[in-house]
Amino acid sequence: MMTTKKSMLMVAIVSGLMLGACSQDKPSTPAATTAVAPAAMPDAAALKAAADDGKEWLTYGRDYAETRFSPLKAITADNVKDLGVAWSFDTDSFRGLEGTPLIHDGIIYATRPWSSVFALDARTGKKLWDFDPQVDKSMGWKACCDVVNRGVALYEGKVYVGAIDGRLIALDAKTGVQLWQVQTVDPAKSYTITGAPRIADGKVIIGQGGAELGTRGYLTAYDAKTGEQAWRFWVVPGNPADGFENPDVEKAAATWSGKWWEVGGGGDPWDTIIYDPELRTVYVGTGNGSPWSHQLRSDGKGDNLYLSSIVALNVDDGRVKWHYQTTPADNWDYTAVQPLMLATLTMKDGLPRKVIMQAPKNGFFYVLDRETGKLLSADPYAELNWASGVDLESGRPIETGNGRYTTAISMVMPGPTGAHNWHPMSYNPATGLVYLPTLQGTTFPYSQEKGFTHKQGTWNLGINHDAMVGIPLKPQSEYKPGTGPKTRSPGALVAWDPVKREPRWVVDYPFAINGGTLTTAGNLVFQGGADGKLRGFTADKGELVWEVDLGVGIIAPPVTFELDGKQYLSVLAGWGGSSGLIGPNSTGQYKPIGRLWTFVIGGDKNIVPVKGQPLPELTAIPFDNNKKLLAQGENVYTQHCMLCHGAGAVSGGTLADLRYAAPATYDNILNIVRHGAYTGLGMPNLGEWVTDDEVNAARNWLLSLRADLMKPKK
Ligand code: CA
Repeated sequence: MMTTKKSMLMVAIVSGLMLGACSQDKPSTPAATTAVAPAAMPDAAALKAAADDGKEWLTYGRDYAETRFSPLKAITADNVKDLGVAWSFDTDSFRGLEGTPLIHDGIIYATRPWSSVFALDARTGKKLWDFDPQVDKSMGWKACCDVVNRGVALYEGKVYVGAIDGRLIALDAKTGVQLWQVQTVDPAKSYTITGAPRIADGKVIIGQGGAELGTRGYLTAYDAKTGEQAWRFWVVPGNPADGFENPDVEKAAATWSGKWWEVGGGGDPWDTIIYDPELRTVYVGTGNGSPWSHQLRSDGKGDNLYLSSIVALNVDDGRVKWHYQTTPADNWDYTAVQPLMLATLTMKDGLPRKVIMQAPKNGFFYVLDRETGKLLSADPYAELNWASGVDLESGRPIETGNGRYTTAISMVMPGPTGAHNWHPMSYNPATGLVYLPTLQGTTFPYSQEKGFTHKQGTWNLGINHDAMVGIPLKPQSEYKPGTGPKTRSPGALVAWDPVKREPRWVVDYPFAINGGTLTTAGNLVFQGGADGKLRGFTADKGELVWEVDLGVGIIAPPVTFELDGKQYLSVLAGWGGSSGLIGPNSTGQYKPIGRLWTFVIGGDKNIVPVKGQPLPELTAIPFDNNKKLLAQGENVYTQHCMLCHGAGAVSGGTLADLRYAAPATYDNILNIVRHGAYTGLGMPNLGEWVTDDEVNAARNWLLSLRADLMKPKK
């Protein structure tokens, strides 16, 4: 693997990034309405009843509590080995599949890259309709972490999808015909939507990403029938001189310093939103600061509410009921957008508590009383060294000081990938365990960028990339030891006991990025892996009881449903996402297509894995061996190309491996890079960011790598 040190650092940076979107404060007007009369299901009562009825999968986390626990138990640890393919559906897409399919009335609804939606007959996989929101692909670069989509919401005969360009779109669930759309962001800014909308009290709620690109985050609720804006919660304050939108924003502003509004502030809530209909409360997990450096964002002062927080909002008006900030004065891209889940736990004092749980990036597993926001416990679920624990009285982390980097480098764990990212966890009430996909040992060298200035619309991390290049990466054992379970592998499935506050069992993986989890009353946990394997474990003990090879890396969480008395298991397999584009490819496949797989007991055991494309034959193209020119070329590539085309110019297998590009592509490289020849394919026009000379330097460096590939192997 030809991966340079600098590239490795960038891998670590980028794998942590997630997106955001910005803000118009005026209510937006729905664009179009048709005369189609939608069916009325699923309605609010059905969503509320979903927890007890395992037949369907109606919302992102299966039910309002988002525990991803299914009461179905036809598939058990004993017969899981008899699972075979019921059907599969090729998504004909090449980028990351992160979605949770929804199942209602015999139809399965799912999304693919560029926010397109498809509906299939859940019995056969036959396509019923397909909807393409026709996103302008020239904006795809704003998506820090691939043009992924995590799914739709279903309500009263409509399907809701957030498009990567910031639109919220309502479709007729029967036909896929667009009913209305609303632009939720200022398209001039670098906002994107990748998350699934949620339904709460007749409203459809969506956030956005963009905190790496200098945005101001917010969450908006729209009338689910019409798309009219109901309320907006601002995660961070704007310029006080413009007046505060409401007292919650004013309160937050007291925790900021300097001119944060000029640098965006961040906080974009790009994933988790959860609703408790009894308490009429919407809970949202908020994003990291923009830029990352607290010093550059807020003069190093104040907690910077409501960054990196779990915030409870009144469903009627979006006003704050309580908040809990997991990482005050965020300095590391420690988002709290990771999945939230609701449960009733019998705590050690023997009393049942209505809780909300989260394992955000910062490495602590939190349990809070969701009625009051009181912190009940916070314990490290992975090794970390930025804090030694959390003070349960004040609710504040006990920082070690190691994380408050200056222009000098601090080695901090976890790094910006977090110890857990967006990959959903699940909770099984029978075992009392939360099945948590973790990233282990993501130590990262942070240092503050010298001479940082906010750059409109593009990357604004406030982190010094260049300084990191010269830093030798020592073995992790040489850094100051941290708190929490010691690193054993790059990734691990941790079965966390939220009452005893410790792991019950752990499955170690030799690769970092793995899929979300599903758990069932059949005493099972299902999870896909970067290696393309889909696995089943016993929920109580973590014993591997099923494993099949699907050929393409899996990051999405599996779902299960029942039709005609049979229990099915479905998962989207498609490699991509931030780590999938930039990082190594565990299956070795080049451009494998995505596929939605559905399994059933007695299905076809002859599972044919997805096959990628062969790498093109290489023909020699001359290049200049001048060392200075090659170094410049590598630098240009690393700054402008690597996020999508891979560290060290080694493709993650998802997008083109430029070392193998055709001679005609190299001839046309200035048109492609600086004049937008391939914007229709998602290749941005970098005309305003790079010069002809820089492009030619990158071309020259790529051709040197190509020549290396053509040397006879020793
Ligand atoms: Ca981020």
